Amino acid sequence: MTASGVLDHIERLIAQMTLDEKVGQLTMLSAELIQTGPTREIITPDAIVEGRIGSLLNLWGTDRVREVQRLAVEQSRLKIPLFFGLDVVNGFKTIFPIAIGESCAFDPGLWERTAHAAAQETAAVGVDLTFAPMIDVARDPRWGRTVEGPGEDTYVASRFAEAKVRGFQAPRVDDVFAVGATAKHLAGYGAVQAGREYASVDLTQRQMREIYLPPFRAAVEAGVVAIMPAFTDLDGTPMTASTAILRDLVRAQWGFSGVMVSDYGSVAELVVHGVAEDLGDAAALALKAGVDIDMMGGGAYTKGLPLALQRGKVTMEEIDEAVRRVLRLKAQLGLFADPYRRCGADRPVEAAGADAKRLELAFEAACRSFVLLKNKDGVLPLLAKPASVAVIGPLADAKGDLKANPDVVVEGLRAARPEIAFSFAPGCDVDRIDEREMQKAVDLAKGSDSVVLCLGETPAMSGEASSRARPGLPDAQCELARAVIDLGRPVIVLLFSGRPLVLPDWLVEKAQALMAVWFPGTEAGRAIAAVLSGAVNPVGRLSMTWPVDVGQIPIFYGERPSGRPAAVDVKYSSKYLDMPNEPRFAFGHGLSYGEFALSGLKVDRSVIPMDGAVNVEVDIENLGAVAGEATIFFFTRDPVASVARPQLELKGFRKIALAAHERGKVGFRLTAGELRFVGADLSPRLEPGAIDLHVGQSAVRDMLLSTRIELKADA
Ligand code: BGC
Repeated sequence: MTASGVLDHIERLIAQMTLDEKVGQLTMLSAELIQTGPTREIITPDAIVEGRIGSLLNLWGTDRVREVQRLAVEQSRLKIPLFFGLDVVNGFKTIFPIAIGESCAFDPGLWERTAHAAAQETAAVGVDLTFAPMIDVARDPRWGRTVEGPGEDTYVASRFAEAKVRGFQAPRVDDVFAVGATAKHLAGYGAVQAGREYASVDLTQRQMREIYLPPFRAAVEAGVVAIMPAFTDLDGTPMTASTAILRDLVRAQWGFSGVMVSDYGSVAELVVHGVAEDLGDAAALALKAGVDIDMMGGGAYTKGLPLALQRGKVTMEEIDEAVRRVLRLKAQLGLFADPYRRCGADRPVEAAGADAKRLELAFEAACRSFVLLKNKDGVLPLLAKPASVAVIGPLADAKGDLKANPDVVVEGLRAARPEIAFSFAPGCDVDRIDEREMQKAVDLAKGSDSVVLCLGETPAMSGEASSRARPGLPDAQCELARAVIDLGRPVIVLLFSGRPLVLPDWLVEKAQALMAVWFPGTEAGRAIAAVLSGAVNPVGRLSMTWPVDVGQIPIFYGERPSGRPAAVDVKYSSKYLDMPNEPRFAFGHGLSYGEFALSGLKVDRSVIPMDGAVNVEVDIENLGAVAGEATIFFFTRDPVASVARPQLELKGFRKIALAAHERGKVGFRLTAGELRFVGADLSPRLEPGAIDLHVGQSAVRDMLLSTRIELKADA
């Protein structure tokens, strides 16, 4: 069928559909091979044959998908294909590092390649659409879903969004090896009160427009086919019912013509939020806002939409419009052309060696996600020196939790350095002390030259419904760490987590090295061994600030200045009495086995017209004796504007690989348009005047190179 033929076919289908069949297209149910939400609804073959379901989530496997699809396309009246959706958060079969870790690579090419690899594996099991990427900016590590997203910065989240959408949907969204992407969760979910999951959200319009919404706009511009509104409210309006954001902004202004799929049960939850009396009301609010598909709504659309229609709260045209978008999505996914596209017997086989390539990619991504936080006296790479190393800690033996083998760290190390004697003891459970285990671990440490201590959270301690009021190391692990550190051996701490962790001062002071390894995925062991042994020089940089204490949260680099900036010995200044303002580790922080020096910041012009651009260049030198890769951040600051601007705003980042002692140059281009901000009246403004440009290796302000340009109306 030609493109216009498909559109005609869709119109003919809509003209023939009963109300129940229309509502069916707007209904997505879970097949519950896995359960990703609280409610259950049983799917019967009859429901599919009668056209009461338009799409399924949580079902995969070519045989299963084919069997269910057959019911729809052979036995239902209108023979409309289903589509199948699944959360592919960090891979399907090959598991890549979690998003917060992967974002620390600051590498859009990598982000795109891992999404593409995940799409290949997902499409191979019959899935058409993934509920990813998650692009919620997060500035509160108590929130468990920091694990799924790209951190605190809107510029990074926007680049991450584009890369992921491109990767999932490449080369075309109807390709047999591609899946449709869903940008989620629109928007502000990362700012839940006190970091508590599903809690209310109060953000200013400015924060929404400047920080939380731009990644979604980037996803739309990259061609994302679906968007999922967040569970949460904004200032009293649940996102699922937000006409202002979903319909007026995203659809009307940004031109998004794809499908909005509700989050799990969130249409029905409008009643619980207290904005809808019953399901009829809830359905009307969601449909009018622009939500096309009700995912697991407990009848929110199936029962609610007919009621809403009866009450005159929605029109048939509005229902048709939503059905049209769903059918067009099915066409875009290639399902009208071939409903068995991603699960048919004649589906093309992948090129030989594709699995092995994905494993290599998982290894590369894991290595690039690690952030070396501290490395006193160059203790790392460690393994060239000691004859014996004790690997200790409950996370070293993560029993499948790392989605790799048990003993993953030890096995990886043994394979990388067979000449070193590695021993292993967990020492305690993740959050429970066992005196005997601890003694065993201490004895092992005593008999070894150095210790690799594996601490942190299990994967179940972050993610959905996994907020932690104290996002630190459980007491049991602190006790173990103290006992081991007190022995005086060099201690390298590997931190496994789905969020920035609040670490005890003594651990940060006494451990010789600290490295955030997040959850590295399938190639965890090999990647950790490669970095510890020096075969790979670490390149990761923090995409989210690590606080000293829970009391500093929310903490992020892009704050606005205070009228009374913090000053030592000045009582009436913006600071705490009991701790510094500075974080433990700043945004952008991350070490390598060596050092890079920046110098010679230059601009090609210092006065730029309001429609102009400036090119910025900086020299960089690898001072170290090994090859490495530096990450350079480019920030701006508008020192005087009609509304106060943040102290730093990220406008670019670049990585550059340099051989030992090699020098290089890194360039950035900034257009005047990128300096536009949200004015006091909430419309975009570009104002003439000075702009400070800063370049550096993290967001620590006194380490940046700076220069000033002027934006001039008549330049
Ligand atoms: C999550 C979504 C997810 C959906 C389907 C919800 O609980 O918030 O991110 O896509 O479940 O599994």
